[in-house]
Amino acid sequence: MRFALTPEEAAFQEEVRSFALHYIEAGLDTEEEERRSGRHAGPFSPLELQFYKDLGERGWNSMHWPRAYGGQEASAGMSSILSFELEYHRLPQVEWTVSTFAPTILKNGTQENINLWLERIRSGEVVYAMGYSEPDAGTDLASLRTSAVREGDSYVINGEKIWNSGAHHATHEWLAVRTDPSAPKHRGISVIIVPIDVPGVEITPLWTWGGSRTNITRFTNVIVPVENLIGEENMGWSYIVGALDYERADIGARVIGRLRRLLDDLVHYCRGAVRDGRVLISDPAVRRQLAELEAKVEVVTLLTHEVCATVDRGETPTVVGTMQKVMASELRTELTSAAFELMDLEGQLDGNDPLSFMAGEFEHEYRYAPVQRFGGGTNEVMRDIIAQRGLGLPRTAR
Ligand SMILES: Cc1cc2nc3c(=O)[nH]c(=O)nc-3n(C[C@H](O)[C@H](O)[C@H](O)COP(=O)(O)OP(=O)(O)OC[C@H]3O[C@@H](n4cnc5c(N)ncnc54)[C@H](O)[C@@H]3O)c2cc1C
Repeated sequence: MRFALTPEEAAFQEEVRSFALHYIEAGLDTEEEERRSGRHAGPFSPLELQFYKDLGERGWNSMHWPRAYGGQEASAGMSSILSFELEYHRLPQVEWTVSTFAPTILKNGTQENINLWLERIRSGEVVYAMGYSEPDAGTDLASLRTSAVREGDSYVINGEKIWNSGAHHATHEWLAVRTDPSAPKHRGISVIIVPIDVPGVEITPLWTWGGSRTNITRFTNVIVPVENLIGEENMGWSYIVGALDYERADIGARVIGRLRRLLDDLVHYCRGAVRDGRVLISDPAVRRQLAELEAKVEVVTLLTHEVCATVDRGETPTVVGTMQKVMASELRTELTSAAFELMDLEGQLDGNDPLSFMAGEFEHEYRYAPVQRFGGGTNEVMRDIIAQRGLGLPRTAR
């Protein structure tokens, strides 16, 4: 079977490409690389703000939302074209708030939740950080202890979140809290939206090996109105699990743009680099290695199509999205390691070195790629999900 874009999709791809080229000419790809590498961790620059505003004005922030809420009811295939092209051109991505939390509000939120948050998310006024993980609750997220106690028309929140990426840019937290300590641990959890700028929220940076910034965020007697509860109280676990399905599927769609770019750049390098008097790509072993990588990138691309088709059928892509997340994230590490071998010491030059290839792209990728293996849940646990929910195998003994 041969997969091809529809005329509408091909036209959209062209539109996104010229949009991308406009921002590359303005220097946004360099700014984004600086941000991902951690050399720039400050507030958004005027160019970054312009980019996000532009995405909102074009309706690309809410393509897949219902028309009633300002969306275009675009297919998942169209959304994945946008993700792919932005990542391929090394530009910032559509916010997680748009791609994972907004669909969760639409699916599980009350009408009041939708009225309060959707338009503000669409316009870019509201950006959530994902507040799930705690020092003692990562994979075993249902053990989370951050508490929200109802007092009249408010909740009082106390606790600590770790790996709270983006909290230093976000306007609000999408916070998983325990609202019923007496219920079984999966049943007493709720999701509450917490403004970042209220008294009692304290954010401390945490730097990764890849150079990017994440955070520890502490909540001390933070007061929020009950209207900030998403959906029903104590039903948060199912909302979190659903949002994670969207997140994993989206991680895969983004990574595929990056994988294709990395492989294109590696082939370009091998065509130009000379080793022992001959061009690298003329070596049969090198050609075989590149061909194997090409086949793997193609497999992950096909899985991306399957995820999109699943979403467009109205189903949640739990198993296929998880498969795609595992394969895409591990291929990213494999591809970068292969590049390191092929480029020899040259691959290790970082972006500050004028002799580095593509501003140290592979050196940085080598440090950044591992995050993808545990972001959205670790791949060991993802394999359990594929085994149990995809293949119907029994639960692992714990
Ligand atoms: C850079 C970065 C950014 C992140 N951003 C966010 C964010 O924005 N918001 C957020 O909420 N979280 C975020 N996370 C947290 C991420 O989702 C967790 O790291 C992940 O869920 C694993 O939890 P843990 O680190 O506590 O490891 P653990 O749960 O302690 O796991 C440690 C190891 O044990 C393995 N393991 C644990 N349980 C099992 C099991 N049952 N079966 C098999 N193996 C198992 C794991 O696979 C892993 O290898 C981020 C993490 C990192 C590193």
